[in-house]
Amino acid sequence: MRLGDLPEWYRLGAMCSRCRHLGWLDRQRIERRFGKNRFVVTMEPLLRCTSCDNRYDNDFKIAKMRR
Ligand SMILES: [Zn+2]
Repeated sequence: MRLGDLPEWYRLGAMCSRCRHLGWLDRQRIERRFGKNRFVVTMEPLLRCTSCDNRYDNDFKIAKMRR
């Protein structure tokens, strides 16, 4: 899945493998930085937990926004 494949009403978050902290990301900022054709899985190694600083095995989470 590419960033651009994700419908607008979905938001992108990241779950920490160590402390289970879930943080929501700013999609627009990510798309500007990496481009819409960037595959989401290729960005997993770039995730860093804002709670415990863990950088390993973090996963993207996708959730439908409440309307
Ligand atoms: Zn963490």
